[in-house]
Amino acid sequence: MSRSYRIAVVPGDGIGKETVPEGLRVLDAAARRFGFDLKLDHYDWSCETYKNTGRMMPEDGLERLGESDSIFLGAVGWPGVPDHVSLWGLLIPIRRGFDQYISLRPCKLMPGTKTPLANRGPADIDFYVVRENTEGEYSSSGGRMFEGTPREFVSQESVFTRHGVDRVLKYAFELAQTRPRKKLTSATKSNGITFTMPYWDERFAEMAKSYPGITTDQFHIDILCAHFVQHPDWFDVVVGSNLFGDILSDLGPAVAGSIGIAPSANINPEKAHPSMFEPVHGSAPDIAGKFICNPIGQIWSGAMMLEHLGEKEAADAILRCIEKLLAEGGPRTRDLGGQAGTEDVGRALAQAVAAGG
Ligand code: ATP
Ligand code: MG
Repeated sequence: MSRSYRIAVVPGDGIGKETVPEGLRVLDAAARRFGFDLKLDHYDWSCETYKNTGRMMPEDGLERLGESDSIFLGAVGWPGVPDHVSLWGLLIPIRRGFDQYISLRPCKLMPGTKTPLANRGPADIDFYVVRENTEGEYSSSGGRMFEGTPREFVSQESVFTRHGVDRVLKYAFELAQTRPRKKLTSATKSNGITFTMPYWDERFAEMAKSYPGITTDQFHIDILCAHFVQHPDWFDVVVGSNLFGDILSDLGPAVAGSIGIAPSANINPEKAHPSMFEPVHGSAPDIAGKFICNPIGQIWSGAMMLEHLGEKEAADAILRCIEKLLAEGGPRTRDLGGQAGTEDVGRALAQAVAAGG
């Protein structure tokens, strides 16, 4: 029997509607070549849905997504709809509802693309940022007292559980284990934040004992940000709490170059629930509707999805084709200094994958 996967497809807003079809085009080519089946369920949930119905997705939205093996998302957010509505109406319920406790972003400088860092090439920038995605600093525990008076008082607690810390660290160690350099860096701030961060350090040191083959180091988040810019070549896998991981997972792709090609994943490693794959970029209202956006971030996210589903060979093939297209001057969109349209790039990559690249 052939391998078959059910994919929930949510293009969302703006350029998501342009990049997702190109992602699907390339996924389809990979499925044909490597002999598996993708069954697609299309959902047009977006800020437009919100304007029409008052909800970003229907009441049984999560239930419907829950029947899929993976979620393939474009971008969510549009001017006129506040971010907290679009985020809390769609993305956050998905991340939480499906316990996607890992946010994963490869930060890899591709040949033929530019990094804002001077004198750096592809050999210098190739690392992953692993962010804890469910607890830590993003808690709803806290409050406000004496509002409007001189005694006004506001607090917000961070919550670090052994379960939550250990499972993200384990994921990061396991990921480092699969990489040639086998190096893991931990981001904390134990000199200033004196309960939660030392606890994280403690669990990190404890777990390191089970992975003797992995080189570990750790930095405070402030100097780590400086090192991302000054010494990106030091890093292989970098793990951080919800807040620090958030910061690093925007800085990392920025260091690695174009926003248009950066992919990301929200993962439930146990596969008890679907994971979600989406480009790093947003809906880009300034260029939406023109079919000039870069679809590579979406296509690369599709490759990450295939890897998660167990189709590693197909994922590797897509990545090779992206690298080749960029290195050898294939069609490129304006953000990379070319003239090609979104569909030109998608078609070229689909053809390359089909042709055995
Ligand atoms: P978010 O929705 O995460 O808040 P944002 O509004 O901060 O995102 P984006 O929507 O990612 O930012 O757009 C930032 C800039 O990058 C815009 O000028 C946009 O046109 C450009 N950009 C984003 N994605 C792409 C892409 N795929 N191809 C070309 N340019 C892009
Ligand atoms: Mg935006």
